[in-house]
Amino acid sequence: MKLDIGDIVRLRKTHPCGNQDFKIMRTGMDFRIECLKCGHQTWITRIKLERNIKEIIYSGDKQKQMMEEN
Ligand SMILES: [Zn+2]
Repeated sequence: MKLDIGDIVRLRKTHPCGNQDFKIMRTGMDFRIECLKCGHQTWITRIKLERNIKEIIYSGDKQKQMMEEN
């Protein structure tokens, strides 16, 4: 799974604030993600994050590809 800074992902786990959408702030062995609703940031391992992702809502990479096709 390709994940980059700025991507928005929907997780299977719901944050205590009721939101499921998170923005990737840092990548690497551990990822830093920000809750889009309450702004809470947390560290999560790549493996844990990949297992938790239900859907990639927004990927900067995909948008770039689309722009190249058009
Ligand atoms: Zn939250």
